[in-house]
Amino acid sequence: MSKIKMTTPLVELDGDEMTRVLWKEIKSTLIEPYVDLKTEYYDLGLVEREKTQDQVTVDAANAIKKYGVGVKCATITPNAQRMTEYNLSKMWKSPNGTVRGILDGTVFRTPILVDGIRPIVSCWQKPITIARHAYGDVYAGVEAYVPEGGKVTLKLPDGSEKTVFEFKGPGIVQGIHNTDRSIASFARSCFNYALDRKTDLWFSTKDTISKIYDHRFKDIFAEIFEQEYRAKFEAAGIEYFYTLIDDAVARVMRSKGGFIWACKNYDGDVMSDMLATAFGSLAMMTSVLVSPDGCFEYEAAHGTVTRHYYKHLKGEETSTNSVATIFAWTGALAKRGQLDNLPELTAFAEKLEKATLDTIESGVMTKDLVSLFRKEGVTPQAVDSFGFLKAIASRL
Ligand code: NAP
Ligand code: MG
Repeated sequence: MSKIKMTTPLVELDGDEMTRVLWKEIKSTLIEPYVDLKTEYYDLGLVEREKTQDQVTVDAANAIKKYGVGVKCATITPNAQRMTEYNLSKMWKSPNGTVRGILDGTVFRTPILVDGIRPIVSCWQKPITIARHAYGDVYAGVEAYVPEGGKVTLKLPDGSEKTVFEFKGPGIVQGIHNTDRSIASFARSCFNYALDRKTDLWFSTKDTISKIYDHRFKDIFAEIFEQEYRAKFEAAGIEYFYTLIDDAVARVMRSKGGFIWACKNYDGDVMSDMLATAFGSLAMMTSVLVSPDGCFEYEAAHGTVTRHYYKHLKGEETSTNSVATIFAWTGALAKRGQLDNLPELTAFAEKLEKATLDTIESGVMTKDLVSLFRKEGVTPQAVDSFGFLKAIASRL
C-alpha cells in the first residue's frame, strides 16, 4: 500500500514523561505506516529546553507561525521539585504560555464523545467547546488589604479620579484590567474557529452589572462580528449569540450541546473544569490554540501523567489513555489536509478517529474509562497503554 503524501510539514512539538512515551508509539503504530509523515521536529522535553535555554520553545512557536499548523505533546511546567529533578538553571516558563504569547491565541477545549460514556447532563448529545480568554482580569489583578479603612480611588491617565469605596473599617480592594487589543484578538480567534468548525458561537459576560468593563467585551465582539464576520457566518449557516453569563449557564444545562461557548478568563477557568468533568474525563478532552491570524496548535488537555511514567520506568504495566493525544494528531493532520487540499490526508485522520472510538465502543479501553463505561451487551475490558494502541491499529 502506498503511503499518503504530505506537502507542507506539520510542526511537531515533542514533550515529557508518559505522554512522550505514547507520542512515539502513536506515531510508529498509527500514523507512519499509512502517512509519509513530514514534520519539522522540535523537542520541547525539559532536557532540551534546559539545554537550549528555552530557545527551542520560541523556535517551535515561530515555526507554527510560519507553517500554520502544529501538534504538541504535553510538557512539564517546572516547579521547585522539577528544578532539582532535572537540575535546571532556571524555572522555565510554561511552554504553553510561551507559545500562546507568541501566537497571541485562544484555547478551545472540546470533549471527545463515545457511545457508552454518557455525559452527566443527560440532554447533552453533542460536545460543547469552551473558549477561554487567556489574558487579564483577576489573573493580572492588583489587590490590597486596607486595614485602617479610608477612601480608595482610581486615578486615570487624564487626571480624573473615581472613588472605589470609602471604607469605614478594614476591607479589601482589587484593580483589574484588559486591553482592546487582547479582547479583539480573542473575538477574532473565536469567530475564525466557529467558521472553521461550522459551529454556532455563544459569548457571555455580565454587562448589566459591569456597564463599562464587561460591556466593552460585548461591544468589541459585536463590532468585529458586524464588520468582518456577519456575512461569513450567514454563508456558513451558523449563528453568533450573545447573552448574560447566568442566562448562558441555564441555557447550557438545558441544551443539546454542539456549540462553542466563549468565556472571559475567570468564567472559562471555572466552566471548562465543570464541562470536562460532566462530559467524562480530562483524558478525553482535546485542546487547540487558534491565533487571530489563523494558526492552529493541537494538543491533549491533560498533563504528562507523571504517576504512570514512574510506574513505566520501573517496568510496571501502565494503562494510560492516549485518546486525546491521538486526536491532537488527527486534528493537526486533518487541518493540514484541508489547507493543502489533500483530501486523502483528511480522510485518514477521520478514519483514525473512528478506529479509536470504535475500539472503545467495542469494549476495549484503558483503565480510567472502565468505570465510566455503560453499554448494553458490552463488557468493558481494560488493556495496557500499548495494547490499546495495537487494538486501534488492528482496525486501520
Ligand atoms: P496530569 O498529567 O493531567 O495527570 C493527573 C492525573 O490525572 C493522573 O495521575 C491520572 O490519574 C489522570 N490522568 C491524566 N491524564 C490521563 C490519561 N491520559 N490517562 C489516564 N489517566 C490520566 O496532571 P498533573 O499530574 O497535575 O501534571 C503532571 C505534569 O504535567 C506536570 O509537570 C504539569 O506541569 C504538566 N502539565 C502539562 C500540561 C500541558 O502540557 N498542556 C497540562 C497540565 C499539566 P491517576 O494517577 O489516578 O491514574
Ligand atoms: Mg482551572
